[in-house]
Amino acid sequence: MAQGATALLVSAAMSACAAGSGSRAAGTTRAASTQPARSTTTVAATTTATSTTLESLVAPPPATAPTPMAGVQVVSKIPVAPGNRVVFLTIDDGLVRDPEFTRRFIAAGIPVTIFPVATAVAADPAFFAEWLSHGAVLGNHTINHPNLPKLGLAGQQREICGAADILTQKLGQRPRFVRAPYGNYNAVTKQALASCGFKYLVYWHAAVNDGRVQFQAGSALQPGDIILMHFRKTFDIDFDAALAQARKDDVKFGVLADYLPG
Ligand SMILES: [Zn+2]
Repeated sequence: MAQGATALLVSAAMSACAAGSGSRAAGTTRAASTQPARSTTTVAATTTATSTTLESLVAPPPATAPTPMAGVQVVSKIPVAPGNRVVFLTIDDGLVRDPEFTRRFIAAGIPVTIFPVATAVAADPAFFAEWLSHGAVLGNHTINHPNLPKLGLAGQQREICGAADILTQKLGQRPRFVRAPYGNYNAVTKQALASCGFKYLVYWHAAVNDGRVQFQAGSALQPGDIILMHFRKTFDIDFDAALAQARKDDVKFGVLADYLPG
């Protein structure tokens, strides 16, 4: 069942959608009229040769803070106000690391959330620290990337609480969100999250593989979509594909953490 990581991730994305749709965070809908004028210059500090064109891919922060929800939430898509064409880019794993990945991220100047496995962070904290210093938000992707439902509560707690501890120790900040390896979770996973102090299990609605954006439904990014890609050899073409798709579908990248209150 563990062979074929790509196929697993894609099928996990499909099931994650169904699993997450019933419990997606609600209560965050706001009147469109409360949206600020779109003149915010959130990336003024990004001074690269390419920032002029890439600036248009950065969404303004939400007009109003979302309301916190009780219990552990499974999130595959963020409910957003009408007219807020924001999407969220997330990058997982981190076993393949290349300074070129970092250079591309910095040049693009877009918000991302990274979900590195703790073993990768322990092996190379400087790589991820540089991403955080350029605005990436940190997430928890366990220590060893196990198939969580195969573990009991203690095992899942070890992977989730333990990863949070390692990330805190190595990077100086504690993540607020968890992404389950392969998108696989069960009721025990939610228990483990709660006991480790987490409120959000973050899924995805579109995935980038081999330079192509794959959708669970339709053929375009929709406002509120969470996009999954990976730190792997195809980073360059995957990153390009995500940015090109956003331009094509007239959406901008926002900060996931802004929409998931603590
Ligand atoms: Zn992973």
